[in-house]
Amino acid sequence: MVIVSALDKYGHSYLGSLRQILLVELGVALVLLVGIGYFFARNMMQPVNRLVKEVNTINANNLQDNRVTVTGKDEIASLGANFNTMLQRLSNSFDLQKSFVSNASHELRTPLASIISQLQVSLSRVRSTDDYVQTLNSVLEDAENLSDLTNGLLQLAQSDMNQQASLFREVRIDELLLELPNLINLKQKGAGRVDIQFPEIPDNEDMVTCSGNESLLKVLFLNLVDNACKFATDNTARVTIHTERQQIVIRVSDNGIGIPSAEIGKIFEPFYRAQNAAAVRGHGLGLSICKRIIAIHHGQIFVESTTGHGTVFEVRLPSLA
Ligand code: ADP
Repeated sequence: MVIVSALDKYGHSYLGSLRQILLVELGVALVLLVGIGYFFARNMMQPVNRLVKEVNTINANNLQDNRVTVTGKDEIASLGANFNTMLQRLSNSFDLQKSFVSNASHELRTPLASIISQLQVSLSRVRSTDDYVQTLNSVLEDAENLSDLTNGLLQLAQSDMNQQASLFREVRIDELLLELPNLINLKQKGAGRVDIQFPEIPDNEDMVTCSGNESLLKVLFLNLVDNACKFATDNTARVTIHTERQQIVIRVSDNGIGIPSAEIGKIFEPFYRAQNAAAVRGHGLGLSICKRIIAIHHGQIFVESTTGHGTVFEVRLPSLA
């Protein structure tokens, strides 16, 4: 048996050099990887950083004019575009709120100023009983005006609060409509009349029942009927109810002054009153309250009107059937 051993000096030195070369290469590769990674990550994050910086400069005061810059067509650009759309919506609702508050305070101030000035004039010297009665009547009218307005504002706020479905019950719309003559009698002190007609009474009572908030639905129909009586030449509101598939259709019509076609789209805005309505009492809140109440009940409202001939408001509510 022969045992031979040898030391591969060259082989060892080659392996040693290879290890060194590999270590250096690994180091260089790592440095390159980190460098390139950092470069790309920085490039990728740049638009996000820009977006964050721009968003930080936007606040409630400059919401109207400030928008984030959108360049390119990547995901960041679409995020920026969506953010701009959201800002536009926020800005619109801020504007609406501002004009609502200024309109509300203006409407509240007018009758208050009138009450104060009438009382001041009346108190400036001793007057006859007739003068006092006249002043008191006029002050009473202004106070009623104020009370109407504050009730309207309260109802508008309530229609927002009562959105919770927990307050919803089953409401028979035909029975609710039958209460309208009494309600309008109280509201218009006997001046208005309501003529209710049910052309066909369905056998299934679910067809005229909807899930809703009874007091809000009363406010809705009372507002429509009140308007019809106010604007009608014969002070009469005509109300009909029928069903169409799963909908309860209620129409409130009158033979009054009508609404100019150019203004029909605006009458549901708070405080908007048509040009031809100046002579009739009101604050322009009723229909905006109606619109909110209908939205809460997932219904729809339509208007058809001819100036000088009359107006028909059609409300569609989903029935239980
Ligand atoms: P208000 O009746 O207190 O003015 P509304 O919000 O109920 O407020 O109505 C807004 C406007 O819509 C009214 O000022 C009027 O110009 C118009 N309008 C509403 N209902 C009728 C109607 N039945 N006939 C004519 N115009 C109407």
